[in-house]
Amino acid sequence: MRKNTSVIVVGAGPAGLACADRLAAAGLDVLVLEAQDRVGGLCRTVSLGGATFDLGGHRFFTKDEDVRDYVFELMGDGLELRRRKSTIRLWGKDFAYPLDFKNLLFRMNPLTAIRAGVDYLWAEVRQKVAPRADVSFKDWVVNRFGRTLYEIYFGPYTRKLWGRPPSEISADWAAQRISLLNLWDVFLLLLKIKQEKPKTYATEFHYPTGGIGRMYEKLAERARAAGAEIRLDADVYEVRREGGSVVGVAFRQNGRDGFESADFVVSTAPLPRLAEMIRPSGGGDVTAAARAMAFRGLRFLNLVVSRPALTDNTWVYVPEPEYFFFRIQDLRNWSPSLCPPGKSALELEISCDAGDEKWRMSDEEVMEVCLADLAAVGLDVAADVDAYGSSFSEYSYPVYDLDYRKKLKAVLEFVWPMENLLTVGRGGLFRYNNMDHSIKMGLLAARHVARGESRDAILEIAKEQSVFEAPHKRH
Ligand SMILES: Cc1cc2nc3c(=O)[nH]c(=O)nc-3n(C[C@H](O)[C@H](O)[C@H](O)COP(=O)(O)OP(=O)(O)OC[C@H]3O[C@@H](n4cnc5c(N)ncnc54)[C@H](O)[C@@H]3O)c2cc1C
Repeated sequence: MRKNTSVIVVGAGPAGLACADRLAAAGLDVLVLEAQDRVGGLCRTVSLGGATFDLGGHRFFTKDEDVRDYVFELMGDGLELRRRKSTIRLWGKDFAYPLDFKNLLFRMNPLTAIRAGVDYLWAEVRQKVAPRADVSFKDWVVNRFGRTLYEIYFGPYTRKLWGRPPSEISADWAAQRISLLNLWDVFLLLLKIKQEKPKTYATEFHYPTGGIGRMYEKLAERARAAGAEIRLDADVYEVRREGGSVVGVAFRQNGRDGFESADFVVSTAPLPRLAEMIRPSGGGDVTAAARAMAFRGLRFLNLVVSRPALTDNTWVYVPEPEYFFFRIQDLRNWSPSLCPPGKSALELEISCDAGDEKWRMSDEEVMEVCLADLAAVGLDVAADVDAYGSSFSEYSYPVYDLDYRKKLKAVLEFVWPMENLLTVGRGGLFRYNNMDHSIKMGLLAARHVARGESRDAILEIAKEQSVFEAPHKRH
């Protein structure tokens, strides 16, 4: 083990903190630089009117025993086992999610169900006789499920979430969104086209009392106790290299520039931003590829409502384009610890790009639209709103556009070979992964730096993923 190696970790999200925690425990000299004013990254929580809001509700679940043990040991009895109940609000009706037969039978227009079934059969036959290539998300869905289902659910939801036509989104994203497909499994079962049971969803999940951010505050506390230094409001803007190795990073903190040298840098910053920060640069092609890699952002409208309870859902999908938000989180059902006594809290998730019109609207403008839309979907809370405010996350979803792989390759081929620089995490690998994957990447990065273990295993994390994991029992 290389003791006293100095390591800079860029970012105090799940990946950065897990890495810093393990490196500090191994006795290395660790400095974490975090641009935000708090730890947690996409898993941070904010407070408003006595309530606590994640940046979109975050469940903890994992298939990875290493990560499970790590998190359970960290959290002790601070994790609650919660029951999930979510619905889809469509055509003025609530569909159970995952759908169940009776619910569907009584609620779906039978003609639409028949049209969808015929379309599906046609798609099945066509795929067998003359299979079509899956280039875009649209191709992928239409090839498998037919046009009707695409038009009534998958297409509008995807366009709303991404702000782009599904024909411009890579089929890779469809392959990773297995949860949507279960919807169709149920249609098929209903129509007796398919015999086997649909995959079951986890109906329970683990959630930290006080919000997902609590998990990362605890991790930061532990890393600090082991000797790591975590500096907040420290925005890294340059990663300096000499040939194939980095020598340190420049950052801005409280209006002042600083430079810290390091033997090793582990970055969890968005990969395209990292590629642009490296000096000397990787050249015009790398910069062009990095600039063309986009992220979809989210704005959250957080509401404290002076009612003891609102719905019995944890969250509700709202796919129709006329509504401003695509999902409603009812926080009391995530954990009562998130709400002030006797009150409830709602979080409305609004998909947008950083700096666009939805991003720039004032809270009052967003409130006005959202309260009207809430009433239209059956949640008229306007008279009881105690407090409201917005939170934002710019780098929520890496955009898998049609040539994202080419751009990703160009950027990774520049960054990955640097001998003492690692890029890990969701933004760091431009990968649509969950927090457990990011924690795992952080743990593997620490093993690479502290023990010299291979770094290549990091690239294998979350290449494929499933959302069907059940929460794990404690040993
Ligand atoms: C709406 C939504 C819901 C989700 N729900 C779930 C869920 O239910 N369960 C689940 O497991 N996962 C969920 N996820 C995924 C989860 O949020 C991520 O996988 C996880 O947070 C990624 O961790 P990370 O450390 O890789 O990156 P991040 O959380 O993005 O952390 C990166 C950190 O680096 C910092 N940083 C970036 N650039 C710089 C810089 N230049 N200088 C200094 N600091 C910098 C950022 O401020 C940030 O704190 C969800 C994601 C979203 C968007």
